[in-house]
Amino acid sequence: MPNCKSCYTPITWTISPAGKLLPLDSRPYVILLRDQLVAAPAPATTRYRIDQIGDELHAVKDPEGTYVSHWVTCPTREQHREAHR
Ligand SMILES: [Zn+2]
Repeated sequence: MPNCKSCYTPITWTISPAGKLLPLDSRPYVILLRDQLVAAPAPATTRYRIDQIGDELHAVKDPEGTYVSHWVTCPTREQHREAHR
C-alpha cells in the first residue's frame, strides 16, 4: 500500500473524474474522524467512492462516499500545494 511521502498515511491512488491522479485516504474518513486521526474536513469537502474499472481505480464523486482526497486531510497539505503548483 503506498504512503503519503509527507505524512506516511496510507493512500490509494485513483483516477479523478478529470482523469488525473488523485490520492484518497485509504481508510474511510469516518474511521479517521473517529480515531481522531484527522480534523473534520469541511462539510462541503468532496466525497468519493472508489469504482474499479479493469485494473484502474476511479474516484467517483458521491455525496454518500466514504473517502476524501488526501490533499484535504494531509497535515502537510500546505507543502503539497507548494510542491504541486
Ligand atoms: Zn499526507
